[in-house]
Amino acid sequence: SISLSNVYKAYGTNPPVIRDVNLQIENSEFCVFLGPSGCGKSTLLRMVAGLETITAGELRIGGQTMNAVPPAKRKVAMVFQNYALYPHMTVYDNLAFGLKQAKKSADYIDRKIREAARILELEPLLDRRPKALSGGQRQRVAIGRAIVREPGVFLFDEPLSNLDASLRVQTRTEIARLHKAFDQASAIYVTHDQIEAMALADKIVLLHTGSDTEKFGSIAQAGAPLELYHRPRSKFVAGFIGSPK
Ligand code: ATP
Ligand code: MG
Repeated sequence: SISLSNVYKAYGTNPPVIRDVNLQIENSEFCVFLGPSGCGKSTLLRMVAGLETITAGELRIGGQTMNAVPPAKRKVAMVFQNYALYPHMTVYDNLAFGLKQAKKSADYIDRKIREAARILELEPLLDRRPKALSGGQRQRVAIGRAIVREPGVFLFDEPLSNLDASLRVQTRTEIARLHKAFDQASAIYVTHDQIEAMALADKIVLLHTGSDTEKFGSIAQAGAPLELYHRPRSKFVAGFIGSPK
């Protein structure tokens, strides 16, 4: 499980962009961070990943404090917006890279890659370089890189934003299916698209916008998609989710 207690984030001497976030994400849970541009979704995700420091409060993963633990030791795997594959390496070597760094044996690495390639239907593409792949295929390689590390937590930051509409739906379905296949893993998925959030989430965490300076960077409402839809706690929540009037 992941827990955040009274978490704040300020960049330098600027006012905080994340304020007093309290949140618990269980194993197997698919949690979506939702909200308009600039509300702090990526910042919150990057703190879980260890790519940003936490200004105040505590982050725990599996019961252990993570505040001072470097990203590589957090058992989290992040799939970025622009999936940054190594252009000079084959798909196989892209998938192997993290495992080689972790000093896994060649046998182990090969087994993990074959497994991931089967799940993601990348088997015919293992010898290709990224520039010879479609956007959706590259995205699947990026997801594969996360899978082979067998993380306890999957982190996605707008992973579909570079894909066209039909591929977006396909890849979204793929991500949901994958998450189910990885039993105990939890997932945090960042998006500003409420349709995507409704389709994927066990739990939605909706963050306030910058227009309300009092509440900016805090949680507007967290709960199951249908709970936010039918019982929005404020006009902002109702408006963003598109609740019936
Ligand atoms: P988007 O949907 O546009 O990706 P977001 O919800 O992911 O937005 P963040 O990227 O987390 O938002 O940004 C939250 C706030 O923090 C914004 O006001 C942004 O300008 C500010 N911010 C983000 N990164 C930095 C940084 N490195 N230094 C200073 N301010 C930053
Ligand atoms: Mg963002």
